[in-house]
Amino acid sequence: MGMFPGGLRMWADARTVDAVAVTNETTAAVRAVSISKRYGSGGSTVTALDGVSVAFERGRFTVIVGPSGSGKSTLLHCLAGLDSPDAGEIYLGATPLRRLGDRQLTRLRRERIGFVFQSYNLVPMLTAGENITLPLRLGGRTPDREWTDRVVSAVGLTDRLSHRPSELSGGQQQRVAVARALVTRPDVVVADEPTGNLDSVAGTDLLRFLRRCADEFGQTVIVVTHDPDAASYADRVVFLSDGRVVDDLTAPTAELVRAGVRRTGAPA
Ligand code: ADP
Repeated sequence: MGMFPGGLRMWADARTVDAVAVTNETTAAVRAVSISKRYGSGGSTVTALDGVSVAFERGRFTVIVGPSGSGKSTLLHCLAGLDSPDAGEIYLGATPLRRLGDRQLTRLRRERIGFVFQSYNLVPMLTAGENITLPLRLGGRTPDREWTDRVVSAVGLTDRLSHRPSELSGGQQQRVAVARALVTRPDVVVADEPTGNLDSVAGTDLLRFLRRCADEFGQTVIVVTHDPDAASYADRVVFLSDGRVVDDLTAPTAELVRAGVRRTGAPA
């Protein structure tokens, strides 16, 4: 189990370690195999990722934490096909991303990955309802009415569908973004600091909803955050430091996550 750092046994009992260890290519929704990524050239090179191997089991909610600059966003972007590693491979299910051309990659991002960004990224001219079904329309697909209704009602937006983003609160806008991410039933939903612009009540609501996505829809969810409390909603926490996975914790509590964050040097 080379991909799980020795520290894991300090954090979890043997049964939990075994449960983590069964994550392999047959059950992983997405996985990184020995990926590295450097920015810059010559003397000013920055190693953002340094040989990261990590697999994300289907239907689980995982949080990636670590200090600023530890490579969290770079890892998330590589997993979601927004960026490509210099070395190593990303598999979305059985699909290795490196072999895909630009058009195939664009299609894969639209159909198999749901994105949630800190800044919501909604189209201001479109209503909430139109924003939600946008990925389907761009792909020339007719929205599955039953699924769309279920997603919209789960995020509590049924009576807001005709509103434009500017007429919605931050929390509501982010829920539109999550509904948009879910509407294609993607292999994985990735979220980069999704609660970063929300107040604590709206942030907690959003994390509870992402939790429900895993529990009720079997949705694989991966969230990058610097918030140890956010981590306590997850099934698993992956700790990054200096571009490496330095710890990996299942069934986290906020207390354990804070202890891990202290050990890895992330801002608490
Ligand atoms: P985190 O999300 O944990 O804050 P990032 O993945 O954003 O970390 O960044 C990891 C490292 O890579 C940092 O040192 C950052 O400055 C560097 N980096 C990220 N993106 C770029 C880029 N486009 N150009 C140059 N350096 C970058």
